[in-house]
Amino acid sequence: MSLNERLRALPSVDSLLQHDMAQSLAADYGAIPLRDAIRMILDQTRQNLLADRDISLDADDLMQQVAEQLQQQFMPTLRVVINASGVILHTNLGRAPLSQSAQDAMLAVAAQYNNLEYDLEQGKRGSRYLHAEELLCDVTGAQAALVVNNNASALVLILSALAKDAGVVISRGQLVEIGGGFRIPDIMAQSGARLIEVGTTNRTRIADYTAALDEETAMLLRVHSSNFRLVGFVESAELSDMASLAHDNDLICVDDLGSGALLDTAPYGLLHEPMVQESLSAGADLVCFSGDKLLGGPQAGIIVGRADLIVRLKKHPLARALRVDKLTYGALNATLMHYQRQDATEHIPIWRMIARPLADIDQQAQQWASALGADVIDGESMVGGGSLPGTTMPTRLVALNVPSPDSFMVRLRQCDVPIIARIVENRVCLDLRTVLSQQEDLLLEQIQSLI
Ligand SMILES: *Cc1c(COP(=O)(O)O)cnc(C)c1O
Repeated sequence: MSLNERLRALPSVDSLLQHDMAQSLAADYGAIPLRDAIRMILDQTRQNLLADRDISLDADDLMQQVAEQLQQQFMPTLRVVINASGVILHTNLGRAPLSQSAQDAMLAVAAQYNNLEYDLEQGKRGSRYLHAEELLCDVTGAQAALVVNNNASALVLILSALAKDAGVVISRGQLVEIGGGFRIPDIMAQSGARLIEVGTTNRTRIADYTAALDEETAMLLRVHSSNFRLVGFVESAELSDMASLAHDNDLICVDDLGSGALLDTAPYGLLHEPMVQESLSAGADLVCFSGDKLLGGPQAGIIVGRADLIVRLKKHPLARALRVDKLTYGALNATLMHYQRQDATEHIPIWRMIARPLADIDQQAQQWASALGADVIDGESMVGGGSLPGTTMPTRLVALNVPSPDSFMVRLRQCDVPIIARIVENRVCLDLRTVLSQQEDLLLEQIQSLI
C-alpha cells in the first residue's frame, strides 16, 4: 500500500466510537475522555505512518491502545501496594495499616452524618476534642488528652503554647533529626522557644539540667532517640529525675516518645521500646507520640498528661489549625478500643505481625517456596518507622530464583498491585510477615505470572 492509501485506511474517530470496546470504556472513563483518547491514538498513528514506520491500522489494536491510554491517565498517584519487605512500619509505605474495626469506623463516619461537634444530650454544639479523650485516658492512665495532626505538630503546639519566649532545656544527645528534614532545633525556633542545650552528644546527667536552669526556663524536654542508637560510653538522665527537677522548680517536663508503644515489645524478642504509661508514671507532665507508629492506628499526634496543660493547649489558636477530622477520630477510637479490650495483638495488623510466631511464617514460606520453585532462607524483619533501631526479629524468607535481581525488583514494582520486596545476598526475597492476608493470593498470582 502507498502512504496515501494507508492514511486513508486509518479508521475514523466515529468508527472507533462504534467499536465493541467503546461502550464499556465510555462507562468507565466518560465519553469525552474516550473521544480525546481515540483522537490522540489516531494522531500518533498518523505521525508514525508519515515517519514511514510499520504500524497496525487494525481497529482492535487501536482500541487496545486507547484502553491502555485511558487506564494510565486515570491511574491515581496514591496506590495500594503489597509490602513484602519485612519492614512492619514502613514510613514510605504509609506506616500502619488499620484494623478491620478501624476501617469500618472510618467508613461509617465518612459516609454518614455524625455528632463530631454536636452534644446529643444537650441538643447543641459540642466539642470534637472529647471524642478520643476518655479512651486515651483509660488506656494510658493520663488525666487528659488531645489529638492533633501528627506528632511533629504535637511538639509544635506544646512548645508554642507552653514555652514561647521561654527557655527549653534539652540534652545535646537529643537534638535529633526525626526524618524528612524535621529537626528539633528548627521546631523550637519556629515555636519561639529558646533552646538551652546541655550535656554532650554521648553523656548528659541530671546535674547538667540543674545547672542550666534560669529565670526564663519553662520546660525540660526529652526526645526519644527513636531512629538511631548510641552505644558505648553513654549516659542520659532518668525521666523521673528530670520530672522531679522540673517540679521542684515549677517547670514542665515533656517527653516526646515518638512511637508511643502501649504494649511491651520485649516479649517478642525485641528491645523494650519505652511505653506511654511508663513516661506518665515517671512523672512527665505531657507525653506526645504518633498515632501511626507502634499504636497501629491512623496518622495523628497524641498528647496525654496534666489536665491544666491540656486545657491550655486546646485554647491555643494553633490547636484549631492542627486539629484532626472525623475520619481520624473514627479510626483512632476503634484502634484504642483494641487496647481497652486487650485484643490488640489479634486485631491490630502491626501487632499481629510483631507477635506472629516464626514457625508459622516458616510453614507458609515452605508452601510458597514449593509453589514458586523458590528456597526458604533465614532473614530478619524490622519494626521500622523510626522505632527500635538496630533490632530485628528472626524471620523466614522466600528467596526467588531469578537471573537478575535488580531488574526483577523493577518488574515487581510494575505489577497491577506493585510488590515491594527486598534483595538479600543478591537474591530477591519475600518476607511474608508483612504481607496482609487479604493480599496473599494476589501476591502469589502476580509472582507466578512473572516467573
Ligand atoms: C516519628 C517521630 C516524630 C514525628 O512524628 P510524626 O507523627 O511522623 O509527625 C517526632 N518525634 C519522635 C521522637 C519520633 O520518633
